[in-house]
Amino acid sequence: MPKDSTLAVHGGEERRKAHDAVTTPIVCTATYAFQDTAEIVRYFDGELEREEYGRYGNPTVRAAERKIAALEGAEDCALFASGMAAVTTTMFELLKSGDHVILTSDCYRRTRQFVRAFLSRFGVAHTLVEPGDTAALAAAVQPGKTRLIVSESPTNPYLRVADLRALAEVRDRFRGINLLIDSTFATPMNQRALELGADLSIQSCTKYLAGHNDVLAGAISGRAPLIAAIRDLRGVLGGNLDPHAAYLLVRGLKTLSLRVERQNRTALQVAQWLESQRRVRRVFYPGLPSHPDHKVAREQMKGFGGVVSFLLDGGLREASRFVDACKLATIAPSLGGVETLIEQPALMSYYELTTAEREAIGIYDSLIRLSVGIEDADDLIADLAQALDAASPAPRSG
Ligand code: PLP
Repeated sequence: MPKDSTLAVHGGEERRKAHDAVTTPIVCTATYAFQDTAEIVRYFDGELEREEYGRYGNPTVRAAERKIAALEGAEDCALFASGMAAVTTTMFELLKSGDHVILTSDCYRRTRQFVRAFLSRFGVAHTLVEPGDTAALAAAVQPGKTRLIVSESPTNPYLRVADLRALAEVRDRFRGINLLIDSTFATPMNQRALELGADLSIQSCTKYLAGHNDVLAGAISGRAPLIAAIRDLRGVLGGNLDPHAAYLLVRGLKTLSLRVERQNRTALQVAQWLESQRRVRRVFYPGLPSHPDHKVAREQMKGFGGVVSFLLDGGLREASRFVDACKLATIAPSLGGVETLIEQPALMSYYELTTAEREAIGIYDSLIRLSVGIEDADDLIADLAQALDAASPAPRSG
């Protein structure tokens, strides 16, 4: 079986490509021609495998799907126009009125919003459980009603690492439950959720998989029949990935292993450096022994990822001064690209809340999230060091 880097370059693509191109071409068509009506009949009788219409499939998208399936160790994968299109289409396929979903409380907030504000309108109930509390998770299961357990690993912004084997073990105690893991922060390079027992693995390919902050895309991977059902619903709901975006995704995936290896290494260096800084109150990175999930992370991850979160001394203003002083790290939401991005969650995702409301949900005003890119570690650390100085000048000696 080829290893990760080889799969990233060659996985999923035909060896002999159209026009003898080395790269998978962008097949830019909304529909597909049939030779004659007999071919249509053979197609619908299942004698011919071919494309029919753009909403049901596209060869460039298919190549990207096969490559991601190879990397995830999945039977199949379906791609969508965004991570959220993958999440919502998957949940619509798996859930019906009367069903119950369990989510960890630190799931991506739009996923939680979809379940809380939208699925509830269709009679789907849900329970939130704290990450890492396997007993609470098991207690939340409503046998016969719970159909889906959703967790992320690592999570945002504290990089909690769920013990995926323990989650799968809870799932196995009951019948008819699927375990869905959002693997966006890990990528298949650092953690293969399906091999650890998940039924489905979701990726916001917008992040590491495409990797260049220029594409929105989402992927769901798992057993072939489940993915086929989700793909069929995609053909109805229409959240398809455009072939141009699929081409950029294939291109980005080829360097996934190189990028993630570098990002793992640099993020660990940055986290260790931050932990040694007097003006940094706390660092959250699963590769540090000080992280609450370091042990689980060491057991189930190959690398600890490229995101580092930390609390600075001071409050909102001091943290903003630090962020504003960064010259290399760019202020922007998102993560996983080649450019280092920095954000202050209190001013981005949680802006509408007061300081007290934010603290109640564990989001502190001086919290910073850094998505480490592929720049040189020394340059990044120098940038953070000068920003720390600029934000809170060291007291003059003498
Ligand atoms: N899952 C996680 C963990 C995310 O961080 C995000 C986006 O930030 C999503 C899903 C949604 O992905 P997208 O922005 O591609 O729709």
